[in-house]
Amino acid sequence: MHGEMEDKCGIVGIHSSDDSKNVAPFVYYCLYALQHRGQESAGIASFNSKEGLKYYCGMGLITDVFRDYEIQNLEGSMAVGHVRYSTTGQSKLENSQPFVIDFGDGFIAMAHNGDIVNSEELRNELINEGFYFRSDSDSEVICYMLKREHYDNKKDVLDAIEAVCKKLVGSYALTILIDGDLYGVRDPMGIKPLAIAKRGEDFILASETVAFDVVNAEYIRDVVPGEIVHFENDEVNSHMLESAGKCKLSHCMFEYVYFARPDSTIDGINVYETRVHIGEQLHKLYPIDADFVIPVPDSSIPAAIGYARASGIPYGEGLIKNRYVGRTFIMPTQEERELAVRLKLNPIKSAIKGKKIILIDDSIVRGTTSKKLLDLVKEAEPAEIHFLVGCPPVISPCYYGVAMATKKELIAANYSVEEIKNQLKVDSLGYITLEALVEAIGMPEENLCLGCVNEKYPTEIPEGLEAETYYKP
Ligand code: AMP
Repeated sequence: MHGEMEDKCGIVGIHSSDDSKNVAPFVYYCLYALQHRGQESAGIASFNSKEGLKYYCGMGLITDVFRDYEIQNLEGSMAVGHVRYSTTGQSKLENSQPFVIDFGDGFIAMAHNGDIVNSEELRNELINEGFYFRSDSDSEVICYMLKREHYDNKKDVLDAIEAVCKKLVGSYALTILIDGDLYGVRDPMGIKPLAIAKRGEDFILASETVAFDVVNAEYIRDVVPGEIVHFENDEVNSHMLESAGKCKLSHCMFEYVYFARPDSTIDGINVYETRVHIGEQLHKLYPIDADFVIPVPDSSIPAAIGYARASGIPYGEGLIKNRYVGRTFIMPTQEERELAVRLKLNPIKSAIKGKKIILIDDSIVRGTTSKKLLDLVKEAEPAEIHFLVGCPPVISPCYYGVAMATKKELIAANYSVEEIKNQLKVDSLGYITLEALVEAIGMPEENLCLGCVNEKYPTEIPEGLEAETYYKP
């Protein structure tokens, strides 16, 4: 069995060299900007020499979890924060992060974005050594490994992190409070993003650059794959893992396609620009004659703009998203599930009726969203629907943190494009090709992880490892 995955999450770390400063409010705002990376739980751990370690986690959106009181209570000049992504796996407070171990002679607080594929084996090793686990998260495994190396085996922090990373297979971006200091780590394949910024004298680590923008911090650079960073005397100290530069870079393609915010730049590539290019590439592949190009909001808006610009066909809004639909609950009846979709998206009937439309979506994963969405669109009676998709057919699960779906749930793993077109009952269906997507991103293909679309994974996948799926009405 695979443990509860850490999935696509958002992480933050802030370091101030002024021990009297409280950085938790800034962590809060950074997490707020990263809310799209996880809505299930949120947490912050902070530290200063007077107050020691403090932390607070809760279920729900960042605004549900923290009120003024909780933030004010988190005194500390260093802090790490986390927003956790929701899957159909068990949703429980024990799995919320930052993960904290606090024992007599020390503590570790860690926020993790990623997924460790050999965590089961590592966990068993620790259990045999007498470690007791209170959650089923990978992050607890990493925390205990770090405790063993640093506090029990007395390695200094950098050597301890090196020793831990040597054993980890999978994806990880980490912000860690240990020994009264903040560290950031990015896996040697660079699967998950992590970047560094400066705000006055303070340093900030965050999953996406949008977090820096909201607190008016200045982006410095991305953490290099395989790099450990910490901050001292107004400088970024860098230490490369032994494996850095020795393995294939594998930046997650799906960050650009769907996951990251368009106003972020990851590894030098702006997400918005990439999505506009995806639209342009879709036009090259499928030059269709239509009245309007309509996005499925919000993630497909830049691609629809790209297609519209390249084709000269007007961009039109045809679906309105209710931006205030937060977490939707698992609805027991079909009627309620349908209501949840309508609550989220509603077609503008007058804009669609009798028109030939090109509808663009960022991806089809299980296909359930597309089916429901197209039912809504068809009620508005368009003359033709051409459905274009900004991600190649997803044929294999993600084992590195995007809880996509299991193989049997992935529509493109089980049906041909023609069959999917027939199931969706559209006039045409066109997926972007892998080559066109790689061109849109503008990074060499060998530097991307494309496992979900070509089944070539950058690490070995242990036999029997189960993929997680996400819940979305
Ligand atoms: P479906 O085909 O029903 O699985 O839904 C696909 C849609 O959900 C895509 O168009 C994305 O907007 C969104 N999506 C894709 N992957 C994920 C994911 N891992 N978690 C949440 N939403 C996703």
